[in-house]
Amino acid sequence: MSNESDCIFCKIVAGDIPCFKLHEDEDSIAFMDINPVNPGHALIVHKAHHRDLFEIPADNIAAVTLTAQRISRAVQATLEPAGMNLLQCNGPAAKQSVMHFHMHVIPRHMADGLTMNWELVQGDMDEIGALAERIRSNM
Ligand code: AMP
Ligand code: ZN
Repeated sequence: MSNESDCIFCKIVAGDIPCFKLHEDEDSIAFMDINPVNPGHALIVHKAHHRDLFEIPADNIAAVTLTAQRISRAVQATLEPAGMNLLQCNGPAAKQSVMHFHMHVIPRHMADGLTMNWELVQGDMDEIGALAERIRSNM
């Protein structure tokens, strides 16, 4: 699998830095976003490093998408939000900040005020870890 030494998601895949892991299989890994825009915000990545939508091979994006559906179902069962966005960002104007293809699972609430291109605000690690436990129990 391709790997970039300075990529934070490659480090998570390799187990070199910690994450609140939700799921791992041969191809993909899912974990909690540590700057959640809403509680339950999760990320899915392919284990191989590909920069964005334009570079990732079709079978890799298929694997990520299947895992995203599985995670979305577990988040939905755990938090019962009024809606769910899957988001995937490419390039600076889309505010891609980690250059390793990833998909966001974002629970939504009526009038949660969420707009595109949010600023990163670090979450409470105890709350994120506890929520990860609850979501895992629904998988
Ligand atoms: P994007 O703007 O689409 O590139 O989103 C990158 C996401 O990765 C942001 O929502 C960050 O909060 C998230 N992120 C960055 N570093 C970590 C990390 N170490 N663990 C979990 N999420 C992270
Ligand atoms: Zn990477």
